[in-house]
Amino acid sequence: MMGIATHHPMDINPRAHLHADIRRSVRELCRDFDSAYWQKLDETAAYPDAFVAALTQAGWLAALIPEAYGGGELSLVEASVILEEINRSGANSGACHAQMYIMGTLLRHGSDEQKQRYLPAIARGELRLQSFAVTEPTTGTDTTSTRTVAERDGDRYLITGQKVWISRMRHTDLMLLLARTTPIAECKKKTDGLSIFLVEVPQGAATVDGAEHRGLTIRPIRNLVHHETNEVFFDHFPVPAANLIGVEGQGMRYILDGMNAERILIAAECIGDGYWFIEKARRYAKDRRVFNRPIGQNQGVQFPIARAYANVMAADLMRYEAAALFDHHKPCGAAANTAKLLAADASWEAANVCLQTHGGFGFAAEFDVERKFRETKLYQVAPISTNLILSYLAEHVLELPRSF
Ligand SMILES: Cc1cc2nc3c(=O)[nH]c(=O)nc-3n(C[C@H](O)[C@H](O)[C@H](O)COP(=O)(O)OP(=O)(O)OC[C@H]3O[C@@H](n4cnc5c(N)ncnc54)[C@H](O)[C@@H]3O)c2cc1C
Repeated sequence: MMGIATHHPMDINPRAHLHADIRRSVRELCRDFDSAYWQKLDETAAYPDAFVAALTQAGWLAALIPEAYGGGELSLVEASVILEEINRSGANSGACHAQMYIMGTLLRHGSDEQKQRYLPAIARGELRLQSFAVTEPTTGTDTTSTRTVAERDGDRYLITGQKVWISRMRHTDLMLLLARTTPIAECKKKTDGLSIFLVEVPQGAATVDGAEHRGLTIRPIRNLVHHETNEVFFDHFPVPAANLIGVEGQGMRYILDGMNAERILIAAECIGDGYWFIEKARRYAKDRRVFNRPIGQNQGVQFPIARAYANVMAADLMRYEAAALFDHHKPCGAAANTAKLLAADASWEAANVCLQTHGGFGFAAEFDVERKFRETKLYQVAPISTNLILSYLAEHVLELPRSF
């Protein structure tokens, strides 16, 4: 049986020549974490500690940190290529990508003291900034209805509320947290009154039985992709006032900018997945013989692969467009959302085509297709669902009447 494709004799990515050095280095690193490694983790629902440690050591997770703080000072385009290549290799960036996309909020809106305090340690790999707590069980996508509150108490804030689907909480030292500091009834706009905090996650808070630790309780959620994700409960959990990012009440504005980076980086992961599925389907369709001919000789098998490939390439262009706008500090909301939408749809189409091309073997864990199929499905829902992107484009870009 075939494992993960780890070398690319003919690269199906027409833009593989762009940032070739980054691609080569990331591919080399990923080669040490083969098909068997990811299958074992999937089987045991374990976190890829060794893989994340290798990425950290090589400096890839500090790519967006300025050189002055010990990071790589790469552009978002380059950062997106790193994540694309991770997923292109058959691996899953989901275990660690947040360190890249959360970074924007701290870099663009954090104070000098905050950056001095945390960035060099993150760049050295001594601190992990891997969690971003926005979603709540009762409010879902309706972020401005956030119910978690942060109440000022002298030189600290006390956080009370509940978050859900907060990923990598058991593998991080720091978390960005969105909480309401002014009741919505007292705000002019519903986006006002929300604040962002850089929270130090107490070690030992991550207890499987959910035991309370200084007002913070973390309960793991078992899920389709064995993603390290959790319910989080806050009960007067103290956060120093010095860890408020920017101005109180302006948090929504800060994270929207960060969310554009997140969408572009996730789009790049989808592109990596998309090329992986196409490559895998292409090889199998050439090798597998049924009725005395390769299955790929049948146009009924070829055309869906070719169509999915065309869609991955088109989405890839949109990703570069959005990332370049972000890097040039140009408005990029429409492009970032479009890139995420098209890339997530293209990778999901490629996933379906790849599984179909493999017939029954597509269901066998040994081929990696069913694992990648589950992993790429997530991007239809998180970090933002397809419907909410369409709603953004319809109402904020095309100015159609608002539905909510
Ligand atoms: C594995 C995983 C990891 C995650 N990690 C994180 C994390 O680290 N941090 C974090 O904050 N969140 C995280 N999330 C949460 C994720 O961002 C949300 O699940 C996602 O934004 C959708 O929110 P919801 O689940 O509450 O869906 P809901 O808001 O309940 O929506 C349910 C469905 O209804 C649709 N819908 C809702 N309202 C409308 C409308 N007005 N018009 C049309 N359709 C609508 C949505 O598109 C969706 O398909 C994660 C989720 C998963 C599954």
